[in-house]
Amino acid sequence: MRRSTALLVVAVLAGLLWTSRSNPTDPAAADAAPAAAPPPAAAVFALDTVVFDAGRCADSGYLCEGLAAEGESRAIRWPDGTPGLSVRVPLPEGVDPAVADELQRQAAAGIREWQGRPLPLTLLPPAARDQTADVEVHWVRSLTDDRVGQAAVRWRVGPEGAELAVLDFVLATHRPDGTPLDPHRLRLTAAHEMGHVLGLPHSDHEDDVMYTFNTATRLTFRDFRTLEVLYSLPAGALVLTR
Ligand SMILES: [Zn+2]
Repeated sequence: MRRSTALLVVAVLAGLLWTSRSNPTDPAAADAAPAAAPPPAAAVFALDTVVFDAGRCADSGYLCEGLAAEGESRAIRWPDGTPGLSVRVPLPEGVDPAVADELQRQAAAGIREWQGRPLPLTLLPPAARDQTADVEVHWVRSLTDDRVGQAAVRWRVGPEGAELAVLDFVLATHRPDGTPLDPHRLRLTAAHEMGHVLGLPHSDHEDDVMYTFNTATRLTFRDFRTLEVLYSLPAGALVLTR
């Protein structure tokens, strides 16, 4: 691997937890922390730097808080020129066929919540395997550590500029205690993980779909505003706050 592609590789792992609001700071239930970022290489790649003062942060949803909380000060997002993302949500196995159909439908609907903000999203047919999707969703019966969903992306600067790739997108059909995840919760979980795929950090407010815990009832203005500001920044820009 050439040096230019080996530098500045950041893997972001994030999960959505199923838990009550009563113990969000329980260390045993802490959400996945992003992998430690290597030293910034802005001097090598001449990446942009943007400075957010308090007023700009206040008008940027939870972008400043999210980047600070996850120790990642980069505007990690799909680069300009990305034509859109294709997504495949297969039918989950091991559940009643009618339930599987509903879960697939709700997961796809959750992902579509971000449609055109700004990337066009194309949901491929669940069973079609003749097309490669940018985002392949995988189902599991349940996850460990109170999780109900999980996503991982890899971001790096290569010879062609900023690159982003989806490493993992997992949805659980059941909560960690074995009870089925209801379709509405699943829809919000899928929206949360797709938010990570688009580059969003966690919110610091329980009403937002990007909050660490599964407490939102819908996507909020703050969710959409944070994504809008993220995509107004140069891909990979260093975000400084003062
Ligand atoms: Zn998350």
